[in-house]
Amino acid sequence: PAKLIDGKQIAADKRQQIKVKVQELAEKGLVPGLAVILVGENPASQSYVKGKIRDCKEVGIHSELIRLPETVTEEELLAEVVRLNRAPSIHGILVQLPLPKQISEDKVIETIAPEKDVDGFHPVNLGKMMIGQDCFEPCTPAGIIEMLHACKIRIAGKHVIIVGRSHIVGKPASQLFLNHDATVTICHSRTTPLAEYTKQADILVVAVGHAGLIGAEDIKPGAIVVDVGMNRNADGKLVGDVEFPEVSQKASFITPVPGGVGPMTRVMLLENTVKAALASDGRLQSESR
Ligand code: NAD
Repeated sequence: PAKLIDGKQIAADKRQQIKVKVQELAEKGLVPGLAVILVGENPASQSYVKGKIRDCKEVGIHSELIRLPETVTEEELLAEVVRLNRAPSIHGILVQLPLPKQISEDKVIETIAPEKDVDGFHPVNLGKMMIGQDCFEPCTPAGIIEMLHACKIRIAGKHVIIVGRSHIVGKPASQLFLNHDATVTICHSRTTPLAEYTKQADILVVAVGHAGLIGAEDIKPGAIVVDVGMNRNADGKLVGDVEFPEVSQKASFITPVPGGVGPMTRVMLLENTVKAALASDGRLQSESR
């Protein structure tokens, strides 16, 4: 049976390291600050935002929650982003998606100053990632790479297959794996037959949002399986895209849902916020990686 990639534990260890770093910075007069904008009352968004604020508190990052009504205009939201771009105590800005339909998400993301774009969704950061420059990497893909590193899993030379091509997970994940010298294949809703591809993966990353999409017959024996999916099953339990019981018998490593990619995503936001704070401070810049 596969070894469990314990994202929850890896993330907890990382939070501890970040806490120490934040204390050091605070002693030098730099308190990293994250602003989170939440529009409307979407229950999932509210719960994500709550988690992000709680994480900040735990490691000593200053956080500000800006709540705006569902009816907010694009102009008002953009004005808020511009205000935060200029706020010296704020180093990272995150606008929780999705946004109501009167607002262009692209426009909002493009208005965030790239140096405060801790979600890594701004075209400048995505472009820099593409050409291998230092940038803010999107949290979910960065968290996946980080958890593989923590388990000492080599990426270079592996055939990595990513199922899903969204702008926040699949596509940036494929670029990050390429930057780590993997051979990368991207599969999506029009890939047929999917299993012919997934069976070739040394590392299989599944980010679709479809419970049970990947079964034991869809993977190669000994594959490393990273399940990004988050779905509610009939009894309201959180499950991934991978049939965990059977796939974990055939894989060599596997991430659980919950307790895998989710906690890693959250901790990478903290890491990006500390990085943004360091980069903003001329005195401490040399400490940023
Ligand atoms: P999305 O809906 O934007 O994209 C889904 C992708 O899956 C698309 O690119 C589509 O082409 C592909 N797809 C759809 N049906 C398919 C099929 N039958 N075969 C192959 N590919 C198919 O989703 P997203 O935002 O990338 O999220 C994917 C999943 O990951 C969701 O369940 C989401 O909740 C979860 N997620 C988890 C985290 C985390 O931190 N754990 C973060 C982001 C998203």
